Amino acid sequence: MYKARAYSVSSATSPFASSTIERRDPTENDVQIEILFCGICHSDLHQARNEWSGLMPTVYPCVPGHEILGRVVKIGSAVKKFKAGDLAAVGCLVDSDRTCPECKAGLEQYCPNMVLTYNFPDKHLGGVTYGGYSESVVVDERFVLHVPGNLDPAGAAPLLCAGITTYSPMHHWGVTKGKKVGVVGLGGLGHMGVKFSHALGAETVVFTTSPGKKEDALRLGADEVVISRNADEIQKQAGSFDFILDAVAADHDVNAYINLLRRDGNFVMVGAPEKPLPVSVFGLLFKRRSFSGSLIGGIPETQEMLDFCGKHNITSDVEVIPIQKVNEAYERLVKSDVKYRFSIDMASLKAE
Ligand code: NAP
Ligand code: ZN
Repeated sequence: MYKARAYSVSSATSPFASSTIERRDPTENDVQIEILFCGICHSDLHQARNEWSGLMPTVYPCVPGHEILGRVVKIGSAVKKFKAGDLAAVGCLVDSDRTCPECKAGLEQYCPNMVLTYNFPDKHLGGVTYGGYSESVVVDERFVLHVPGNLDPAGAAPLLCAGITTYSPMHHWGVTKGKKVGVVGLGGLGHMGVKFSHALGAETVVFTTSPGKKEDALRLGADEVVISRNADEIQKQAGSFDFILDAVAADHDVNAYINLLRRDGNFVMVGAPEKPLPVSVFGLLFKRRSFSGSLIGGIPETQEMLDFCGKHNITSDVEVIPIQKVNEAYERLVKSDVKYRFSIDMASLKAE
């Protein structure tokens, strides 16, 4: 066991503060990673503030962070995929039972015994797992990813959640050239959705509540931008979409978007608002539309996504911040004021 510096919250209302956590020494299959960058996902904020208290109550102290990119510093005796000095990444998953049908299918995110990167029971040290707002992490190599060397590391970190969470449903629902895709909410997830949809050749329309993001949306790859505060503007697109990805973190009207789908179109929710959303069944019956959800992605698909990003030179647009600015970053995240992901430069933690 060794001590690692980290930033943690001690209650739903307290700010982040510098702290020390314990990490296990690498066992035979483990990789020890020195963290270079960690993205800030809106899920980190939901969890730190206990906004998902019904489903996943937060255990304090809490160290969030599941967009982890770093360098391997130590490996266990049986590790095969990594060596010291390699770039390596960890996303939302650090373990699963490896035997269930989901694990066998490479869909570890749907394993009933998956272990998330933070706030999940830690079978090694007891207590809960601690995430990437830290200088170091130790993870079984099965859950560690290779990062293409051509990608900017600060911008590649968010691929581990924002990237895979948008790539996976697009892949599953067959987004490709000739399809019309909507992306609702131009935040961390949404802007990756736009990049992937564009890279896959689909016609891409962004729905945003922020008129100031229009130019950026076009630059990121959107063909059209609709300001979603205006219901008439939304309805002009009725019945025209094959697929809509909703990445909104707050309460909002999803029925307006379901009505934009054509026959057999699919609306997938990846945003995880605190409260249930009312869905009009009639919106689904007519045109045999479907409404679905999607959770991050499995380990093989995450590697596939990283390789796709390496090939197409896709990274997240990031604002790099020192960890000392994490409280300020959270306040801005609540106001949809980030372009388009905060990436924490973990060298700032060493300077403390
Ligand atoms: P984010 O960066 O804060 O982006 C959310 C975007 O939603 C905002 O930028 C804003 O875009 C839009 N928005 C915010 N408030 C709104 C409102 N009241 N009405 C309509 N639109 C609003 O968050 P994120 O990190 O991308 O995460 C988005 C959600 O996905 C969170 O709930 C997160 O927990 C969840 N998530 C789910 C998974 C999964 O596996 N399913 C994985 C990661 C995250 P505009 O300014 O363009 O309107
Ligand atoms: Zn996330």
